[in-house]
Amino acid sequence: MKCLLCKADDMQPSTNTYFTQMKNCYVIIENVPCFKCSQCNEVIYSASVLERIDEILENIEKIASKIFIMDYSRAS
Ligand SMILES: [Zn+2]
Repeated sequence: MKCLLCKADDMQPSTNTYFTQMKNCYVIIENVPCFKCSQCNEVIYSASVLERIDEILENIEKIASKIFIMDYSRAS
């Protein structure tokens, strides 16, 4: 897998904290599995992880608290 940013062929499995701002709240998801470039620290999520994040965000939208922090591995 090549880095989209610096083209280095050195993406390592890692975890990252995903942060996004939605209409009425901020969402932080900790320990999201990703690939991280060892050259420039660019982070890439796999398609299945992005799908899962979408699901999590949809659920959070219904809860609608101001700031939402959760652990990826504990998402239901
Ligand atoms: Zn890179």
